[in-house]
Amino acid sequence: MEKLYFIPGSQDLYGEECLKQVAADCRKMVGFLNEKLSDTIRIELLPTVETSKICVEDMKKVMCDDDCVGVITWMHTFSPAKMWIKGLQLLNKPMLHLHTQANEKLPYGEIDMDFMNLNQAAHGDREFGYILARLHIPHEVAAGYYQHEDVIARIRRFAQVAKAIALSKNLRVATFGNNMRDVAVTDGNRLSCEIQYGWEIKYWGIGEIADLAGRVTDEEIDAQMAEYLSRYTMDTDNTEAVREQARYEIAFRKFLKENGCQAFTDTFQDLHGLNQLPGIAAQDIMAKGVGFGPEGDYKIAAFSAVLMKMAEGREGATGFIEDYTYDLTPGKELELASHMLEVPASFAATKPKIQVHPLGIGGKADPARLVFDSVTGDGIQCTLIDLGDHFRIICADIELVPVPQPMPKLPVAQIMYRHKPSFQIGTAAWCYAGGAHHSVVSTALTRADIALFAKLTGSELITIGDDTTEADLEKFYMAR
Ligand code: MN
Repeated sequence: MEKLYFIPGSQDLYGEECLKQVAADCRKMVGFLNEKLSDTIRIELLPTVETSKICVEDMKKVMCDDDCVGVITWMHTFSPAKMWIKGLQLLNKPMLHLHTQANEKLPYGEIDMDFMNLNQAAHGDREFGYILARLHIPHEVAAGYYQHEDVIARIRRFAQVAKAIALSKNLRVATFGNNMRDVAVTDGNRLSCEIQYGWEIKYWGIGEIADLAGRVTDEEIDAQMAEYLSRYTMDTDNTEAVREQARYEIAFRKFLKENGCQAFTDTFQDLHGLNQLPGIAAQDIMAKGVGFGPEGDYKIAAFSAVLMKMAEGREGATGFIEDYTYDLTPGKELELASHMLEVPASFAATKPKIQVHPLGIGGKADPARLVFDSVTGDGIQCTLIDLGDHFRIICADIELVPVPQPMPKLPVAQIMYRHKPSFQIGTAAWCYAGGAHHSVVSTALTRADIALFAKLTGSELITIGDDTTEADLEKFYMAR
């Protein structure tokens, strides 16, 4: 399991007794947090920073440990921040500055100068906050007594976001074909993606998959079909079309595994050697936590993999979604998302049905796909766009709702949502902000998770929700 290193700060001015107490309190704190967070992360205590040399040694350990996804720092006493400079300059993993104390309450009857010298986070953590600001070190602050539930929840969130950032830094995206001809929002600067987020966007021809698919054995397809039938209901006589998708799924998974990729794209404009657009194949692979972007959208493929990692261990669904069409009934406006095929099976509220229908574009054979009703409830819709000189993340609160009426002639998974604070402001805000029609929807993540990711990766963030007003639209417009 991934870990965080816990680095406390002090100095050698207060004597041996005080430093022993600092170490003992930190051990107790780390033990407590490990118990509370054992389902998410491990925390390991490093030597208390008393000198610049110890700080550098601690940070080297952080940097060299591949299991370590970030650090927690806390100034038990005052810790003059000049001795943190050289260490902090080495750090390139996420940091949580835990602004807390070993004691919850002040011992009013007992407090003396020894207590004051030992327990002075209000003093030391401000010195530390100053040097983080001075050095422009991205970080999160969690303030409060470490045993309080709200503080533990903040540490948990930080750990989940740090794990997602660690995945991001090592993420490889396989793009099969390029992005869809003439489409703007799916294009951008792949090099900037790698510099800022670590995403290696690697091109291969779809022929690689066609070749692999051609070598998949009947036994492998039988096994994949058995897996489908254990989770999905067969609702077609065209078994051959479904077996064809099973063949693609096996080929994609083999290729991704062999090449160390956790995300991929395809495009209906380049299916040379395949006779269907991957439908159930893509839907099923996404449900296994692999990022996906259709039409060559490498950004959303990578971003969906990162956000699925962030949501790991939480209730709810997370995955790629496309915006399509609206019901504009006044006061009851809704959006219907999911036009083509590629809705992740993780959004299914009912047992998905395997069906085969024509696609309408692309000129290939009718693809097999999963058709289902979506989970409902509060969620977010989140996208990442390339503005040429920087990336922008846009995150809107939405409510996933049941479909108001059946749509028997629409043979795709159906996801409907309500925009916040209203259709008019919510969707106008998204348009002003330049938000794409490809995004990641999640009923597991919140705006606070995305805001933390944006903060720790130095990304611009625009959020939309019940607190968004008409006046904010001007702001989003001016942010172009
Ligand atoms: Mn699209």
